[in-house]
Amino acid sequence: MPPDEAPLAERLERVRTAVADAAAVAGRSPSEITTVVVTKFHPASLVRELADLGVRDIGENRHQDAAPKAAELTDLDLTWHFIGQLQSNKVRAVLDYASVIQSIDRASIVAAIATTGKSVDAFIQLNLTADPRRGGVVAADLDALVEDVLAVPSIRLRGLMAVAPLDEEPRRAFEMVRKASDRMLAQAPLASALSMGMSGDFREAILEGATHLRIGTAITGKRPDAG
Ligand SMILES: *Cc1c(COP(=O)(O)O)cnc(C)c1O
Repeated sequence: MPPDEAPLAERLERVRTAVADAAAVAGRSPSEITTVVVTKFHPASLVRELADLGVRDIGENRHQDAAPKAAELTDLDLTWHFIGQLQSNKVRAVLDYASVIQSIDRASIVAAIATTGKSVDAFIQLNLTADPRRGGVVAADLDALVEDVLAVPSIRLRGLMAVAPLDEEPRRAFEMVRKASDRMLAQAPLASALSMGMSGDFREAILEGATHLRIGTAITGKRPDAG
């Protein structure tokens, strides 16, 4: 059976095993690694199935897609992670369901979160590409953004998030994130989390210290049309 056609439970189990194997290779405990299952473009029913299989952390990247799903699933005890590019005027609505924002990349988003007064766990997204239009703050601007985030008491800065660029060796990209994180710890000693690693590169991410994986297709199967 091609991996995509295997039942959800089987794909989830396969990923859990692969995560545990990679952790063992890295000499790490799988218990220090949180797998966020990315369910973008999939229906609420799939999220419910995942919850039945013990998944608690769900990742979504588009507010208009995520909001109705979250609204349909308020009976479940899920932690919604927002992982997509954010607009300031959507921040309040996103925080109605998301308790983690993984994609903070500019001061205006920090200010928008502060205005809501809501408590949130946050990751700063680091842009590893040469394209400033990609999500994430460029490394040169990281220190200043960390200062902005630390100045807001309702935001608990957890660490950094990044997506490995397609044209680069993932391990090298993740090593850059780890090094940026090491430097950032002088400024933000509690923000040691590293959200990196997706379906195709989570093993490399674990070897570089990832604490949060964001895994979609390897668990959910192929995404329905992006719409
Ligand atoms: C879609 C997405 C993922 C998951 O990607 P897969 O390759 O399906 O595992 C992870 N992170 C972000 C930011 C995404 O948008």
